[in-house]
Amino acid sequence: MPIATVNPANGETLRTFDALDARETERRVAAADRAFRSYRTTDFAERARLLNRAADLLDEDRQDIARTMTTEMGKPVKAARAEAAKCAKAMRWYADNAERLLADEHPEDADVKDSGASRAHVHYRPLGVVLAVMPWNFPLWQVMRFAAPALMAGNTGLLKHASNVPQTALYIEDLFTRAGFPAGCFQTLLVGSGAVEAVLRDPRVAAATLTGSEPAGRAVASVAGDEVKKTVLELGGSDPFVVLPSADVAKAAETAVTARVQNNGQSCIAAKRFIVHTDVYDAFAERFTEGMRALTVGDPLEESTDVGPLASEQGRTDLEELVDDAVGHGATALCGGGRPEGLGGGLDRGWFYTPTVLAGITPGMRIHREETFGPVATLYRAADLDEAVDLANDTPFGLSSNVWTRDQGEMARCVRDLEAGGVFFNGMTASHPALPFGGVKRSGYGRELAGHGIREFCNATTVWYG
Ligand code: NDP
Repeated sequence: MPIATVNPANGETLRTFDALDARETERRVAAADRAFRSYRTTDFAERARLLNRAADLLDEDRQDIARTMTTEMGKPVKAARAEAAKCAKAMRWYADNAERLLADEHPEDADVKDSGASRAHVHYRPLGVVLAVMPWNFPLWQVMRFAAPALMAGNTGLLKHASNVPQTALYIEDLFTRAGFPAGCFQTLLVGSGAVEAVLRDPRVAAATLTGSEPAGRAVASVAGDEVKKTVLELGGSDPFVVLPSADVAKAAETAVTARVQNNGQSCIAAKRFIVHTDVYDAFAERFTEGMRALTVGDPLEESTDVGPLASEQGRTDLEELVDDAVGHGATALCGGGRPEGLGGGLDRGWFYTPTVLAGITPGMRIHREETFGPVATLYRAADLDEAVDLANDTPFGLSSNVWTRDQGEMARCVRDLEAGGVFFNGMTASHPALPFGGVKRSGYGRELAGHGIREFCNATTVWYG
């Protein structure tokens, strides 16, 4: 894939970049390693000062970087601004909390006495250079939720960003440089995916984190496994959105629209499968379809746009194939089901897809098992809670889940039985710096954010005194 900015709203190539050659890549790996040796000895106060400065600069740059993101991958510009603001908030949160999250842990003396210790504790040290392979869908946030904790822990970072967001990738390196981080602490490698293996095998690289598709995750984890290096994988999702009879159906339907089409439908934690109890199915389906139909599809740089184009032509083709397969096997499109027409102004060459609700899904359809990365929702009717839970779990993925109910017993059942890294009641899944984020099953392993996230790339060192 060429490293280039191609505007998904009209297919126009705006800038192309040469990939780094092996020599320049090596120079950067060496710089990251050199930086780690001294940066690891800095204290939390110094790291926090630098990260807070980066957050301030990001706030100042918000309008410009939002337009860059929108131009590179098509998200509505208002969502891009919100993403930049969210990053600054997470950076400040880690600046404020990293020292507490990585404080020494002291087991009870009595518990460790029979190890012969007079005392013992756990001390968190950074691992070293961490390679981050990141996707285009939240081009700032996906990187920052790795970078903020990694840098606060004393690691250094190498970013291999998706090839379609090179300007955002370069901006992130520049942001940390301007904030005053020592040279080599955070660098962008403008390379294609073929160059990842060599970097990961380099003995100076300690670990890797990847957010993206299952094939990419598998490729990186295989190499890391071969090298016995730590990985965190955050892969796809097909999150269920379960609506039960005690729910506020109007609010559930309204939230369902946002949960499905956020980021033009290209979010791993977007609700994708809407599983509705038969008692409220018709009421929910009507309101949800109405809400999806009412969305404004158009130029993502316009403030009034709700849904912009998909990030790539291939992404739209993949989505079209899933919808066509479902309809071919008997699904009904309650709205949408194709490309929008007559957008005008060059947008007809863009990679748009109309928000779509599909009903009548059966297990034989590809869409039942595969992730829909675009504004397409599937609707299921469930006879009772048992069937709803079974349907929710009938997927290879296990990222998060959403359940609408006021019944405490149903809530407890869902917390016990839903196979996912999160269960969100009466709302939609969203990431937050203070809450761990990640999945089970084919959605990956490890956690980002909160204390869990910052400790992933630490050496939990046992310190024992005789
Ligand atoms: P990819 O997984 O291909 O891309 C994500 C990152 O991984 C990019 O930096 C990419 O680099 C890199 N990469 C891809 N293949 C390899 C490899 N073999 N070894 C090392 N690095 C690799 O995502 P796509 O953009 O192709 O999207 C395809 C699907 O992935 C989507 O439809 C969606 O289902 C899922 N996805 C999930 C995301 C999530 O948030 N969990 C985010 C994005 C996609 P390069 O760009 O140079 O190929």
